[in-house]
Amino acid sequence: MTASCQPPASHFIDGRYVEDTAGDPIAVISPVTGAEIARLHAATPALIDQALEAATRAQTDWAARSGKERGRVLRRAAEIMRARNRDLSVLETQDTGKPLQETLVADAASGADALEHFGSIAAGLTGEHIPLGGDFAFTVREPLGVCVGIGAWNYPIQIASWKAAPALACGNAMVFKPSEMTPLSALKLAEILIEAGAPAGLFNVVQGMGPVGAALSTDARVAKVSLTGSVPTGRRVYTAAAEGLKHVTMELGGKSPLIVFDDADIENAISGAILGNFYSSGQICSNGTRVFVQKGIKEKFLARLTERLQGVVMGDPLDEAVNFGPLISTAQMEKVLSYIEIGKTEGARLITGGHRADLNGCFVEPTVFADVTDQMTIAREEIFGPVMAVLDFEAEEEVIARANDTQFGLAAGVFTADLSRAHRVIGQLKAGTTWINTYNLTPVEMPFGGVKASGFGRENGWAAIEHYSQLKSVYVALGATEAPY
Ligand code: NDP
Repeated sequence: MTASCQPPASHFIDGRYVEDTAGDPIAVISPVTGAEIARLHAATPALIDQALEAATRAQTDWAARSGKERGRVLRRAAEIMRARNRDLSVLETQDTGKPLQETLVADAASGADALEHFGSIAAGLTGEHIPLGGDFAFTVREPLGVCVGIGAWNYPIQIASWKAAPALACGNAMVFKPSEMTPLSALKLAEILIEAGAPAGLFNVVQGMGPVGAALSTDARVAKVSLTGSVPTGRRVYTAAAEGLKHVTMELGGKSPLIVFDDADIENAISGAILGNFYSSGQICSNGTRVFVQKGIKEKFLARLTERLQGVVMGDPLDEAVNFGPLISTAQMEKVLSYIEIGKTEGARLITGGHRADLNGCFVEPTVFADVTDQMTIAREEIFGPVMAVLDFEAEEEVIARANDTQFGLAAGVFTADLSRAHRVIGQLKAGTTWINTYNLTPVEMPFGGVKASGFGRENGWAAIEHYSQLKSVYVALGATEAPY
């Protein structure tokens, strides 16, 4: 698990690896062993400039190509990514600590899906014809220009691909800054795109902390910033982008409700609650961390959930039998443990877990609190770790109001056998991404994103195309042009 993952250099700019050791050092630490698995350097202003220059140049060339040609490159990249899925998954597991069992199916695999999906759409990016009774107009869907992507540490290659695929399909170029905690796999995406035939400079990766992200999001050459991160960072990046009147997509945090009615298939509902709280050790923005369970089935739900959690296998995430990994860092582990202490102090009933696991690494036991009330800190703040808060409810109207009583609006889910009720409830939940009788499935065909403080703009689906392109209207006069004088 301590194998070196050192890439040839820190950055990938203009089609090749580039290093500048004058940049601040970034130590990439294994969350399992605490060992340094790679050492990179943050991009210096000169390298940021180089990346933006390369992107600007490549974008002109790329946008002039047909959608069909752009699509072919993206689909080829998807194939290469799938062929290398195991290597990419091992790298992602070493960098993030997520179990290989998960990364094999959810990370590069989803990235490849996005490249294939948008690669298939690229040739069909047309405008519309608007008849005007003789004269007519038409629209052309044009790229925005150079886009900046900034990623979080929970799904590094997936986030990079979800941003790059629609951006490139539309004819944009991208400069991507991964989280400084998980900088490795985006470099592999850059390599793959070149191999698939993308021009040098089309997709560049620069490393660094917040200041590198800030330099990118304020640069005049940049037309759009797409961030996946926390609400406070979102506020900062949005403010900076607004100053330059740039387009933005903000995929931010959440504290999503997952509502289980008493007629639900309880095994399915528990599966949903497990996926929505403990997959990736709880480090998923759309997690349904407020699990509202109708009173009549609460104790049965808790008992069976506790039983099912006996199936958790912690350990070396590279071991495919392991299904529960560590948190990304010591700091994140301490943050999560402090929320667990707050839960105990504020009077929530600890059902299971509640401690650091007895293992080397940043492992926290899957933790379930019951009798959580709406005002408790663990029901209000995003923890981003394996901590489930179970709240009771009695009536439909009551649970809808309580579910919506949050600053966030990323996701929501409902489990019930009554489909009319499912639709009625989902229709009233203020969230951007919702599920009926399942949780946290995010196929690339489906738009993904939030409302309220969870952000705006959408990734995936057709919707992402709208966020990486703009329409040019062309009025065509067939007759004389009349003027008053
Ligand atoms: P952060 O908000 O801390 O960081 C996100 C990215 O922004 C990082 O690459 C970070 O760099 C960078 N950054 C920090 N400051 C600035 C700045 N001023 N200007 C530009 N970029 C900046 O989030 P985390 O990495 O801690 O990720 C966890 C958060 O992400 C959670 O809140 C989670 O809910 C959210 N998230 C949302 C998702 C969604 O789709 N809605 C999906 C996944 C996560 P660095 O960290 O290297 O300093």
